[in-house]
Formats: sequence, C-alpha cells, structure tokens
Amino acid sequence: MLRTLLGLSLTVMACAAPAAANFDGQSWWSNVKIFADDKFEGRETGSTGERQAQAYIVRQLKALGVEPAGSDGYYQRVKLRTTEIQEASSSLALIRDGQSQPLDLGEQAYFSTRYTLAPKVEAPLVFVGYGLNIPEQGYDDLAGLDLDGKIAVVFTGSPADIPSALSAHYQSRAERWKVLKAAGAIGMISIPNPASMEMSWSRMALNRDLPSMDLVGAEFDETAGSRLVVIFNPAYADLLFEGTGHTFAEIAALGKERKALPRFPLGVSISAVAHTSSRAVNSTNVVGRIPGRDPKLKREYVVLSAHIDHVGVGAPINGDRIYNGAMDNGSGSALLLDVARSLKHSREPVKRSVLFVWVTAEEKGLLGSKYFAAHPTVAPKSMIADINTDMFLPIIPLKALTVYGLAESDLGDRIARVAADQGLRVQPDPAPLHNVFIRSDQYNFIRHGIPSVMIDVAPTDAADEQTLKDWRANRYHAPSDDANQPVDIATAAAYEEVIRALTLNVANDPARPAWKQDSFFRRYAGGGS
Ligand SMILES: [Zn+2]
Repeated sequence: MLRTLLGLSLTVMACAAPAAANFDGQSWWSNVKIFADDKFEGRETGSTGERQAQAYIVRQLKALGVEPAGSDGYYQRVKLRTTEIQEASSSLALIRDGQSQPLDLGEQAYFSTRYTLAPKVEAPLVFVGYGLNIPEQGYDDLAGLDLDGKIAVVFTGSPADIPSALSAHYQSRAERWKVLKAAGAIGMISIPNPASMEMSWSRMALNRDLPSMDLVGAEFDETAGSRLVVIFNPAYADLLFEGTGHTFAEIAALGKERKALPRFPLGVSISAVAHTSSRAVNSTNVVGRIPGRDPKLKREYVVLSAHIDHVGVGAPINGDRIYNGAMDNGSGSALLLDVARSLKHSREPVKRSVLFVWVTAEEKGLLGSKYFAAHPTVAPKSMIADINTDMFLPIIPLKALTVYGLAESDLGDRIARVAADQGLRVQPDPAPLHNVFIRSDQYNFIRHGIPSVMIDVAPTDAADEQTLKDWRANRYHAPSDDANQPVDIATAAAYEEVIRALTLNVANDPARPAWKQDSFFRRYAGGGS
C-alpha cells in the first residue's frame, strides 16, 4: 500500500521537483544501497561491517582526489569502552519499614549502563519532579530538598514555560547529572513520561542488556560520582509513591500538561546489587578535505558531518536480524560523498576549505563527534560551521525543510535564502519536546561554539505527515530500514542541492556564520574550547 502510494507521488514529483542541476539522486541511492547491504551487518560501532563501510568511503575519497584529513590518513582513531549489565547476578529491591520487596528486572525496572554503577547501593528516595535546575529561568526543582546521599526520582519532561532549547540542554546526560550531583544525590531513578514515550516499555526494556558505550578518558567522564541509575516502568511507579498521599496518576496528569510538579521525600529506599562487565572497542572517524582556493580563507573550514555507524545485528523482527540503517544514516553518509564529488567537479571557486567527517558511534550517544569536536584533526578555531545530515528522510515530495537550530545562528537565514531560491519553505523544529537539536552530531560542534544546523525533509500535508509517522513507527531502528523501501529520488537530489548551495554560501561569504545574540547556545562560543 505505502509503496504504491509513494510510487505515485514519485511520478507526480518528476514535473514538480525543483531542478537539481548537480545531482540525479541515482548515485545517492546506489551508495545508500551499498551502505545498507547485509554484508555490512548494520555497521555496529567497531564491527567488521562498520570498518568495511569506512574503507569503502576511503576508496571513494581517494578516487575523487579528496585529501586525507584524519590523524592517520583519512582515519582518526576513537577509543571506546563498553558496559554491560550481568542481570542474572544483579538485583533491585524497594525497602519499606525494613521489609524488602524485590523488583522484577525488565518488567518493573532496569539498570541504566549509561551511568557509572556501583556494585552495591542502598539509599532513600526523594521525588524531585522534573529534576531540573535552570538558572536562566530562575527555576529549580531541587531547592529546599535534602538529597545528600540519596537517590533522586525524576519524572522526564519539563514545564511548559521553559524554552525548548533550554529544556533539551538541561535534560542531556551531562547537564542532568551535574545538577543532581551538585545537590548531593548519588543516583537517579528515571520514570519516563507516558505522554512522550517514543517507544513502548517492552521495546525499551528489550535493549537493556545490550552493551552501552563511552569514550575512554577522564575528560569524557560525564557521570563521575554516580552510583546507581535505574529506569522505572511508569506502569509500576505507584510502588514508589505509596504512603505519600500522592499517586502516580496525579503526577502523570500534571506532567502531560507540562504543569508544575510537587516534590517530596518518598517513604522508601532502594537497594541494588549491580554486576557489570566491560571491554575495549576501537573505531574510527573518517575525515577528508577539499582545500579552499582563497589564500586566506582556505585556512577556515566548513564541516559537513554524517554518522556512518548504525546499531548492527539485534533482536529479529519479522525474521530479520540485520538493522541495515539505510536512512539512518546511509542516507547522510551517501550525501557527503555526492557533495564531495560535485565540489571536486565544480568550476565555481570554493574559497574556504570543506571538511567531510563521517563520525562513528552516533547511535551510542554521539561519541565519534564528541571525540572529533574535542580533538579535531584541524585547528579547533578554524571550523566555522557544521552542517550535519542524519536521516533526512527523502520519502515524500520536497516542498519544505525543517531546520533544527533555525533561530540560533545566521545559518538559519542562509538556509532560508538558499531554500527560497529553490522554491522551498523552511520551518523550525515542529516537535521541540523530542530534543532533536541535541540528539544528533551537530550538538557536539555546538558545545564547542561552532554554529551548526541539521535539516530534514518536512511534510506539508496530512498524507506526507502520515508517511513520515509510519516510517518512524515501523522502520526507525528496525531491520526494515533497508534498501527495500520506497524513496523519492527527486527529493533526495533536490535536498542534496540545498546542502551544496548552503555549503558554497558559507564557504564563499567573507563573513563567518554567527550565533544570534539571544541564542542560548552562544555561550559556548565565548572563551574555552
Ligand atoms: Zn539512529
């Protein structure tokens, strides 16, 4: 059904699409198919499949004459470490009035391996509402609560009057932990907000024994001091609120409306035994450069980034275990190759240099880009913008673009102009609660002060909206995000045209992109790096 419908819209698009002078969409699609091939086994970080996909990119760059710009040829080594929970020898229990009530791991709660887990913990619980401390808004959920040596119980989300960029920023792992730690907490129980869960509890819990990953090195340890972090099934959350005079239904109803939440100590402690195992993983970023032709400006770089990793081989869905990651993010990886080719063949002069970065371990928490932004293979101050492409979903006709970060820097104004030239509208993030601006690799460039954007194909009518919604429900992070799905080749080509035009705009404009005066993210462009 879907396939037929999309086939139809593709035919219609053939007349309506903006002319794509530099791209035909075919080379993009053939590279997406290569990245999504079963032989790359879903390009898990550090796997043979990921290495083969990276080697393919390097061969293409050599053939195009794109210069190596990693620390070892085209490569930059990224050292990682896994953490895996050994559930059989681990346990969680609630302690009330000296009585211990064991929790069913997977059904009622599970350990988060994205934080440091101590072997043994017992501590009282305090409900801290959204658990946010946002000085810019004079907002503090932790004020007046005694959290010293205790575990904070957090309901995910934010109050309606906090701007979305701020609430996204303060819900990131690093910022969230900084605030709880400063208040004296030794851990967190996180209860997902049922009104904004993107996955069912059973699908969330299905992945709990997969290893998590982090970068090796003290500078990347964002959760020092954490001893226990647990995700708690909202369906059982009343176990925590018993005897407090509050119910979880009451909390969830307030949270759904993004209203203020009460905050209070809970009459219960948690006791945890956690056994974890760990191993080293090596992966790489792949970096290539097309030097600019202006003697001065060529020392500056426009960065185009896309993650090459995906989630590998996992639980079978409809008998298929390979999570091919065609759109996520074979699509962006293929786009970078196409843009590199078009710039190499272009007769238009490119003044600044263009840096192409295929980062690893995005799916593990934006780790490859975090490493690259902290240890770039070019001078840190020379990177003047990042244009990131991640799963732009060219599966509907292209009439409009969603720009994450549209109002944050003048990159937004530049995109609006470039898009208008091609008859396209731009819109800001339509669903700021999903925190997309901090959920892909551009965020690490932002945190180093570099104006950045990510751009998606936007729906303009109900049918297209439904197509994208169905895609997220059925193919997102599932084995069916493979080469057997309908795509709109004309949309892909027109989108590539936009990225190319934006790249040239930024590369050739004498003025560097700048943060808007009122952008929250401008703070990172201050001192430091
Ligand atoms: Zn993904």
